[in-house]
Amino acid sequence: MEKVHTTCVYCGCGCGLFMHIEGGRIVGVSPSPAHPMSRGRLCIKGWLAGDFVGHPERLTHPLLRRGDRAVKSTWDEALGLAAKKLKSIQRRFGPQSLGVLTSAKGTNEENYLLMKLARAGLGTNNVDHVARLCHAPTVAGLGSALGSGAMTGSISSLECSDAILVVGSNTTEQHPLVASYILRARSRGAKLIVADPRKTRLAELADLWLSPRSGTDVVWINSLLNVIVEQDLIDRQFIEERTAGFEETALSLREQTPDKAEEISGIARTDLARAAAIFGKAERAAIVYAMGVTQHAQGTDIVQALANLALATGNMGREGTGIYPLRGHQNVQGACDMGALPTVFSGYQPLSSPAVRAKFETAWGTALSAEPGLTALEMLWAAETGSLKGLIVVGENPALSYPDSFRVLKALKELELLLVCDIFPNETTALADVVLPAACFAEKEGTFTSTERRVQLIRKAVNPPGEARAEWEWICDLMRRMGLQADYPSPASIMAEMALLTPSYSGIAYERLGLAGLQWPCPSKDHPGTGILHVDCFSQGRARLRPVYYAQPPEIPDSDYPFILNTGRSLYHFHTGTMTRRTSLLDREIPAPFVDINPEDARILGLREGMRVIVETRRGRIAAEAHLVDRLPRGNLFLPIHFTEAPANALTCQSIDPVSKIAELKVSAARLERVMP
Ligand code: SF4
Repeated sequence: MEKVHTTCVYCGCGCGLFMHIEGGRIVGVSPSPAHPMSRGRLCIKGWLAGDFVGHPERLTHPLLRRGDRAVKSTWDEALGLAAKKLKSIQRRFGPQSLGVLTSAKGTNEENYLLMKLARAGLGTNNVDHVARLCHAPTVAGLGSALGSGAMTGSISSLECSDAILVVGSNTTEQHPLVASYILRARSRGAKLIVADPRKTRLAELADLWLSPRSGTDVVWINSLLNVIVEQDLIDRQFIEERTAGFEETALSLREQTPDKAEEISGIARTDLARAAAIFGKAERAAIVYAMGVTQHAQGTDIVQALANLALATGNMGREGTGIYPLRGHQNVQGACDMGALPTVFSGYQPLSSPAVRAKFETAWGTALSAEPGLTALEMLWAAETGSLKGLIVVGENPALSYPDSFRVLKALKELELLLVCDIFPNETTALADVVLPAACFAEKEGTFTSTERRVQLIRKAVNPPGEARAEWEWICDLMRRMGLQADYPSPASIMAEMALLTPSYSGIAYERLGLAGLQWPCPSKDHPGTGILHVDCFSQGRARLRPVYYAQPPEIPDSDYPFILNTGRSLYHFHTGTMTRRTSLLDREIPAPFVDINPEDARILGLREGMRVIVETRRGRIAAEAHLVDRLPRGNLFLPIHFTEAPANALTCQSIDPVSKIAELKVSAARLERVMP
């Protein structure tokens, strides 16, 4: 039996694993003992990461839409038609009428090429991806505070923490390997504080569980820092030597009293005092957060509030300290790093810099626009109004995963050209004019960058089904048809070009990656990579504290819609379920959509476990099975996002964080009714 070392396809932990191959098929998966982060462990999704690969529903041929039908075509015909339509739209409506949604599931090389295709081939900066809906506030908030929007330490460094504050992260379910390091620190004696409206598994194991009302994070984090400042638990030397903006921020905190925090967030002032003592007195304190922080209309402010807390207490640049945003997709970090964003090139080099633009213009041999592009949601609303005419979607399913999905469906139908590339048919391929079948992670070469900035190889273990191709191959083909040079013999050569243009990746090369990969910044070919950022200095000189102020969520419960609806993931499924719902052991665990309800709320409404209920917001209604859980506070509902038959995003609201442009996905006013038999 052959064993091929690769990287897990699911969450941003980036665990190393072996694919076991027999007769050209994947027959098993085992963990990689030598991997520096996962150290011979995998969660259940990792163990089953090979199961969907040979599924009979894989897309195997390009498809073209003919009226209501999708008919088989050749690659030449499909790409020829796509290029012809893209050129026609470009000529008639200008480059800004085109856009590209790249993939957080795709490789770095594919994201780099798609970014290049958009900017150099289509002439637009309308390029974005799903980070817009998960960690755009991290990129914006940490980028502004620290000069880098990435995790500041290595996951394993959490083992050395004396106190860990986990905010808005169901870590044991969504990032199980990160949870293992938190629990290892906990068993070593570290104090654990978990802030989450739901009593997650980690909250059950914590020294202190804070249960804020959804959407009130800014107020309680500010108040926590206020107590820390008042009790003089701050690190004055760090503040003076390495930060700016402390005095102004401290002044703004004076009104953020524990009484005010208790009134707005529901967290008792005594609990805030305990949290302040634990976090403020710790020698090494770390902050871990996920989408419970970022998927808010105030997401960037919440990230800044957490950065203020870490900086004021000097918890930065040392083992066991820092800020740990947990990325959802396996390569959402890499897609951001590759510049699949509307305002930056790879390595977050700004479009607005003439010197940066000139560097890319010279390398790519074409003039580039300085006009910032549209974000993912803005592209869809431009399609709705008719100003965006052509959209390339690679490895994303916006028809199910984007907020207010009924409106998204309508917008996608307005396009003159919708080109979608994926591994399985889904709600978005069903609308596409051109569908391209992709090779999955086990069928191609490339790199992913994990949430701890670890750039790692994925290796080809089996052949793709039918005529499916690695995305980098067809993107090169389309680039050539659009008049660009794209003579890359391999993904390694794409990485080589990208590394030449991207200082933080300059030292990354395939031959250096081995089983462990390298963590960026890696500025030269002899650099060992960087586990901990901001050790001696911040890239922008001083880190910036900034006052942030609480704003009420755009939708709050009222008599018509008395519940707060929260959306998210479950342990056994991933994103829109494209892969996990085709993995029989995972699908067996959670085969159907459900909504979590507090048992007391259920009793008042006459609901019992397993009953069918309708969840309704101002945007739509869906049916799901009632699941009674006392870990959810009264007045709250939780819906997973994985199910096409109950699309949670049909219910979520459109309110946008003005800085990062993320939608408010965690707070929607909702009502519940029983489906009568
Ligand atoms: Fe894969 Fe994440 Fe599980 Fe690791 S923790 S095995 S990366 S899903």
